[in-house]
Amino acid sequence: MDMDFSPEDLAFREEVRDFLAENLPDRLKDGARKTPGVFVEPDIGMEWHKILNSKGWVAPHWPKEDGGTGWTPTQKFIFEKECALAGAPGLAILGLRLVGPVICEFGTPEQKARFLPKILNGEDYWCQGYSEPGSGSDLASLKTTARLEGDQYVVNGSKIWTTHAHHANWIFALVRTDATVKKQAGITFLLLPMDQPGIEVTPIMSMSGDHEVNQVFFTDAVTSVENRIGEEGAGWSIAKFLLENERGGSCFAPRLLQSIDRLAELADTQPSGVNGAIAHDARFRDRLAKARLDAEALEFTELRILAELAKGRAPGPQTSLVKLLGSNIGQEVDTLRLELLGHDALQLPLERPLYGNEAPEAIGSEFAQIAMGRYLNNRAATIFGGSDEVQKNIIAKTVLGL
Ligand SMILES: Cc1cc2nc3c(=O)[nH]c(=O)nc-3n(C[C@H](O)[C@H](O)[C@H](O)COP(=O)(O)OP(=O)(O)OC[C@H]3O[C@@H](n4cnc5c(N)ncnc54)[C@H](O)[C@@H]3O)c2cc1C
Repeated sequence: MDMDFSPEDLAFREEVRDFLAENLPDRLKDGARKTPGVFVEPDIGMEWHKILNSKGWVAPHWPKEDGGTGWTPTQKFIFEKECALAGAPGLAILGLRLVGPVICEFGTPEQKARFLPKILNGEDYWCQGYSEPGSGSDLASLKTTARLEGDQYVVNGSKIWTTHAHHANWIFALVRTDATVKKQAGITFLLLPMDQPGIEVTPIMSMSGDHEVNQVFFTDAVTSVENRIGEEGAGWSIAKFLLENERGGSCFAPRLLQSIDRLAELADTQPSGVNGAIAHDARFRDRLAKARLDAEALEFTELRILAELAKGRAPGPQTSLVKLLGSNIGQEVDTLRLELLGHDALQLPLERPLYGNEAPEAIGSEFAQIAMGRYLNNRAATIFGGSDEVQKNIIAKTVLGL
């Protein structure tokens, strides 16, 4: 595999750098830096989304005819890497990376015309209704039902851990339309408008004090039969297509490497509490070096996957490998950030729902204020999108043939 960028790729990298220098405002970088959560809040993320859309760059992973960029996999990698280096906010994946590609792949021409432009221009904000109380890893056991009455489905049940459901105006949901067949065969993929009396969203506060996830209750909620993606009972194949995108759709390494470099810089000045800067503490230095090597190795794996994609092959179970490694290295980086900061990290940022109006006084730098929130929030990275154990099972079965 040729790891060098071609002259065309280098020219593309310059174009991306110029665009970022001119169009990424400091206030969005600032908002992204202070975000403890997996997704930035919509007011930050959607502003960047709209800037990218006006350039035609918001959906690199869609087919060109549906509004994608037509970039090669290497160009997509360069774009992600440059965005990470520039400190751009991460975009909400729910529309762009999850339901968008599903509609591109399985939607009718009418569904594409109706939904895709509103994802691109940021008018619609989506959430993902897969998990249920009792059906997470064993997703196919889901119990939320939908029955067809005339030209609409009537939906009853509940979804849980629904990220940003409180911001969303649409939800894509897996529902059971037939309980008499094998469990995977009775599942259908529906799109439902959130703004209706049959849908109630209740918040779940995380241990970091953030409101990102929710439980969503459906009580005779309705959606038109025109909002079914694929045939009735075909939802499981669509669900799996989406999960592959969720697990391997983005490159983890660029942002990890950027965070590790920032830690290395700070380690030169941050006191170890014993003798000199923490950069001179052998144990800390070893762990930081290992995290960097792991992130570099992951970057090569991601480039290897890109090379496969460039040959027209599907990413397949390698996405599980990337998800497993990316989320674990991310958690190690979060832990090293706390170690670096010592007791300065024993705080959560101000103005969080956890505190109400009783925000305590901040200690130390802004960097210290976000470290604990990020650490606590990112514990979920090895759970959502399929837990570590589930990824290991997939790798064991499909890659190692065990
Ligand atoms: C922050 C956050 C955001 C989320 N956002 C969304 C969202 O927007 N939409 C959505 O639909 N879902 C979302 N989820 C749900 C997420 O996908 C599930 O939490 C995840 O799939 C695990 O399911 P579970 O919570 O039911 O745990 P369980 O499936 O009950 O797992 C419990 C434990 O058992 C282990 N385990 C389970 N099965 C096996 C097995 N076969 N072999 C070995 N170990 C096993 C798991 O690894 C885990 O450690 C989110 C979760 C979190 C934490």
